[in-house]
Formats: sequence, structure tokens, C-alpha cells
Amino acid sequence: AAVTVALSGCGRTEPGAEGGGDDAAGFAADASIGVALPDRTSENWVLAGDLFENGLEEAGFTGDVQYAGSSNAVGDQQQQVQQMIDAGVEVIVIGAADTNQLATQLEAADAADITVIAYDRLIQNSDLVDYYVAFDNFNVGVLQAESLLEGLEANFPGESPWNVELFSGSSDDSNSAVFFDGAMSVLQPAIDDGTLNVVSGQTTVQQTATEDWAAENAQNRMDTIITSSYQGVELHGVLSPNDNLARAIIASATGAGFPVPVVTGQDSEVASVESIVAGEQYSTIYKDTRALVAATIDMVSQLQAGEEVTTTGEADNGAVEVPSNLLDPVIVTQENAAEAYADNPDLEPLTQQ
Ligand code: BGC
Repeated sequence: AAVTVALSGCGRTEPGAEGGGDDAAGFAADASIGVALPDRTSENWVLAGDLFENGLEEAGFTGDVQYAGSSNAVGDQQQQVQQMIDAGVEVIVIGAADTNQLATQLEAADAADITVIAYDRLIQNSDLVDYYVAFDNFNVGVLQAESLLEGLEANFPGESPWNVELFSGSSDDSNSAVFFDGAMSVLQPAIDDGTLNVVSGQTTVQQTATEDWAAENAQNRMDTIITSSYQGVELHGVLSPNDNLARAIIASATGAGFPVPVVTGQDSEVASVESIVAGEQYSTIYKDTRALVAATIDMVSQLQAGEEVTTTGEADNGAVEVPSNLLDPVIVTQENAAEAYADNPDLEPLTQQ
């Protein structure tokens, strides 16, 4: 059974009609449901595809799960969504390849009375996004920044100001700015009061972006910064928005002869959990993909039955407040890894070494 995690009971329930308008009527119990996922830029996306296929089938639906390819992710996804619309799906779940490039497809979905659920990434500047299911992304950034400060204090006590660098994610993903804003809500005061020194001086989301969430781009930027700003200067810590980039940043630092700095992450990828347990990467975020997919399929089932849709609040996408179900992310360090992954048969064994 793929979808085994119960939803946390914190959801407030409100009428589905408030959010989407056209979507409280219900539809056939074996309806087709489209799931359009981005390129496989991290393990969470790989997991999500399998979980959606199995979970939708278990719930009685006919699932059509598609991934965008890496070379033309935006075009691929636009085409896949259009094909789902043409095939007559009732709901399309979209993990956007580019959160700003789906306007035409959302118009077409609306015209065909299809409910659109934004998954993990909030599609921007459109009033045609019916619902959003994700982890609380701002809080992801807050937790990352708090763990960076905690790791610096633990590893370099009394050595403040600590020298740090900041990385954010891809600019075509609306999550990137939200993670970064969350992190900066904690780090900016520490920069302002001199606790942290961003030696490169690069502190905006644009300056710190990692296009396509590509590890190679993070490694190149870290290499360049080390060459230009860290000759004879210690590097104490790095804010990394996810695990894939964290490992590239660590490779850059150690390749340049530095000890492993305090580096944050996100996604609980296998190699990063191993690295955390081994005392290298400092932290990651656990966003249990099983719970996120289960919450999304629950929403589809509620729509199918014409029931009220469970939401925990709203998220502003620049055009409207989208009714949202936001789950709680968990910070994981060496200290709590075993406990945090206790219910996850893929990750828990990694903590027992
Ligand atoms: C997801 C992260 C992931 C990143 C790169 C983001 O939108 O929320 O979990 O690390 O995309 O795939």
C-alpha cells in the first residue's frame, strides 16, 4: 500500500464551492485524474509519481501521471496538461515546471470545468487555480535558518561573526522566494547585528538563485565565491535550500580544501540523510511525500463525492487567495533523525548505522 500516512487532523474544513466555484458538484467515482509533475529535480518528485499512480488507483480513479523532461520541461508540461484536458479528466494536479507559464492551460481547463490543484508549487498570477496542497514553505525557510544558526553555535562557539553564504532555488519555481523569505526572516536580523557575515555580499534572492535547481549550478557558484571571497578566510556555514544543492556545496567546499561547513538542506534525500548521520551535512527538512500525496488524493476524493474540501488556510498567488491545505515540515539533524524517520521504512534504517 503506497498511501499509508494519515493526514494530521489540523485541517479546518470549508465548503468547496468557496474556493473553486465549479467544483462542488461531484463526478464519477472512476473518473480520470491527471497528474502533471515537473522534471525529476529531486527525490520527492520521483516518489510522488509512484505514490500518485498507486494511490489514485487504490482510491478507484484512473490516474494519468506525466513528468516533464529535463530539456524542455515547460513545453512538455504545457503539452501534457493540454492532452489531459483533451482526454476529459475531471481534476488536474500540477507540480509546475514553471509556476508562471501555465496561463493558457488553466484557461482551457477552466473552459472544460476541470478542477486544478496546484501541488507543492503554487501557480502564480491566476485566479484559475482552485486549490493548493503543499508543505508550509515559509516555515521550511524559517526552520532551515534556525538550524544554520544552531549549527554555527554548536560547531564554532564564540567565533561569531560567522562567515556564511546563501543559496536559493530556481527562479521559475515560486517556492524558491518563499523558502528564502522564510530563511531571511531569521537571518537578516543576524546579518544586521553582525552575528553573520555574508562575505560575498550576495544576499538577494536573485543573486543567490540556482537555476533549474541544478547541482552543477550551485557547485559552480560556490567555487566562484570561494575563489573570489575566501582566500585565507574561513567558511563557517551555508544556507542551502535543498539536499541536492547541499551536497554540491559541500563538494565544492571540501574540493577547495575546507572542512565541511554547516550546511542546511531539504527533502530528506537518501544521500543527505546518510551524510547527516555521518556528521557532514548539518540538517535537512522532512516533507513526507506520502503525506502530501495522500492529502492531495483525499482532496480529489472529496471533490468526487461533492463534499467539503479540507483546507488549513489560504495562499496568495498574486491574483487570488487560493484555498490551501498546508502540512507541517519537520527539521532533521543528526540528533533527531532516528525519531523523525521512525515511521518511514526507507529512511529509518539509514539512521541505525
Ligand atoms: C520543492 C522542493 C525541491 C525543489 C527542487 C521545490 O519546489 O518544494 O522540495 O527540493 O522543488 O526539486
